[in-house]
Amino acid sequence: MNINFSADVRNNGFLSFETKARTLYGAFVPASKVFFNPDVYVRNLNVLQIALDCLNHLQFSSDDIKQLAKYGVSPIFKNGSQAIKLAKKRNISIVFDKVSKPDIHAQWVHSKNTIVINEKYKNTRNMAEVYAISAALIHELAHAKDNDGITSVQEEINCLGMNALAFNIFRKKHPKIFSANSSPIIKDGVALYTDLFFGNNENALIDRIKLKYGDLPLESPNHSASDFAKKIIGKI
Ligand SMILES: [Zn+2]
Repeated sequence: MNINFSADVRNNGFLSFETKARTLYGAFVPASKVFFNPDVYVRNLNVLQIALDCLNHLQFSSDDIKQLAKYGVSPIFKNGSQAIKLAKKRNISIVFDKVSKPDIHAQWVHSKNTIVINEKYKNTRNMAEVYAISAALIHELAHAKDNDGITSVQEEINCLGMNALAFNIFRKKHPKIFSANSSPIIKDGVALYTDLFFGNNENALIDRIKLKYGDLPLESPNHSASDFAKKIIGKI
């Protein structure tokens, strides 16, 4: 089933949003939460579904992938649609809900097969935030892929790399909508890491990853430590 949400999007104030947001996974069910199930439930569709639609059409740049390889990133998905396919195959739920700390933007909850996005964004009418949610989703889906509930410095590097690849494309395509945006999910989240990975300031990137993830193990299954990860925890 395909529903074109362009009219709905316009009525809700997404004035500059040109993507034809389509129902990818089911029927529109207005509710306070988004529950992503390919067969039945998609709630609060007009935020999450657009974010998923943006992700589904996302193609990375090979130059960007090369740039991130300098920092030990091993891309977990080749494009956005691979991430969406994983979510469908594993029947992963995506909800707007409380996160474990208020400054967390999104998190993968392995025990519940669920990605939680900070509920403060559930009614956003800010397209920049919708793109940021899209970039956060690929980070969390990258965590979900190995299905082991364990993370590590290297796994975070790989997952951060995915959201940086995604956000770099969104920002290049739509520079105006991000230019004056100070939303935390953008400035302290996806834009911050994109700037660090693409800014050629290795020390700043190391400091940030060390600050946020330095107490994690160096590596985890399917995420063997790169030299860059070793550098972060001072092993080389
Ligand atoms: Zn992570």
